[in-house]
Amino acid sequence: MNATDDRYLDGNALGGPLAELFAPDLTAATVTCANCGGEKPLAAHQVYPDAPAMVVRCPGCTSVVMRYASDQRGIRFEMTGVRLLIVAERNGETA
Ligand SMILES: [Zn+2]
Repeated sequence: MNATDDRYLDGNALGGPLAELFAPDLTAATVTCANCGGEKPLAAHQVYPDAPAMVVRCPGCTSVVMRYASDQRGIRFEMTGVRLLIVAERNGETA
């Protein structure tokens, strides 16, 4: 056991922060591509809706940054192609 073992919380601690992240419209969020490092609003990305999942590609290098699918098992959202997602704070609200 090391000195940091008593310093963590379980994943329930993320409930509030992640609700703030995923509740707003994310199309204005800035996405940093994990492949080329390009930074663009999500709305500027290329979306291919006809695959089994909606596939989101970087407008700079065309790498896949996100995949979104929904079926009877639930919603699957993969974003391994995103290095960083920045969601601007809403006006008049504090974090
Ligand atoms: Zn890219």
